[in-house]
Amino acid sequence: MSGADGAGASASALASLLAQDIHLHTSFSDDAVSPLPEVVAAAECRGLRRICISDHVRAATTSLPRYVAEVQAARLTTGVELLTGVEAKILDASGAVDVPADLTGIDRVLIADHQFPGESGPARPDVIAARIAAGELGAAEAVETLVEATCAAIRSVHGPVLAHLFSLLPKIGLTEADVPEPLVAALADTAARFDAILDVNEKWRCPSPAVVRRFLAAGVEVAAGSDSHRAQTVGRFAWVSATLTRAAADPWTGSLPGPGAVSSSQPLPAPLAADRPTAGA
Ligand SMILES: [Zn+2]
Ligand SMILES: [Zn+2]
Repeated sequence: MSGADGAGASASALASLLAQDIHLHTSFSDDAVSPLPEVVAAAECRGLRRICISDHVRAATTSLPRYVAEVQAARLTTGVELLTGVEAKILDASGAVDVPADLTGIDRVLIADHQFPGESGPARPDVIAARIAAGELGAAEAVETLVEATCAAIRSVHGPVLAHLFSLLPKIGLTEADVPEPLVAALADTAARFDAILDVNEKWRCPSPAVVRRFLAAGVEVAAGSDSHRAQTVGRFAWVSATLTRAAADPWTGSLPGPGAVSSSQPLPAPLAADRPTAGA
């Protein structure tokens, strides 16, 4: 392949990856404002080929049949492929996920680290941060519990999507640098084995290019997710675009570079403090 052809293939591979939104919300979620038809119309305007409606649920949610029916009805009105997803938190160290028992009609379950999955149930991140700071809980132990719970959650649901992986770490005073490579590898390998999709998340700006690269190497499907809570931000991927470009070969070819640091020297956009989400359900 000539250089020019390679550059063309690069651009089209990246464009294809960005022509979807694996993580977005509609007014079915308490904290989102746009009704489903507006979200679908926005996806059409953005030229997206696939979106995953991923509204928040808990085990006690009773509105799933109506939700599934509305997404099914919307499928008849659009050329955009609509996946019916739900987003729910990992409850505890065993990897139990806070979803209703009956998930009929749900294509994908977005597994989210909204709280710390403790031995006896979900724990508030600020409480865990304080325990780590006080030396009551080791950082390594906390990271291991989080990763093992996430692996178990992947195994426990049909159609897993890893939502904003590692968004919890800054909230408990840690970073991705606190996650040893063998644990990242275990997550990536589990994700590959159970056909999980990795949500590269615009709103939370995670995971990093290095983690995305590790998942790509394991053969995991990686997808752009806006985590949009209003129609205007559906399919808008400035940070994700930069991250995927850095995670893969530079320029993007769809193939992987060898081991080592990411090759692009382009800085990533800084997080926007004003756009940080509040703690999820
Ligand atoms: Zn979330
Ligand atoms: Zn979300």
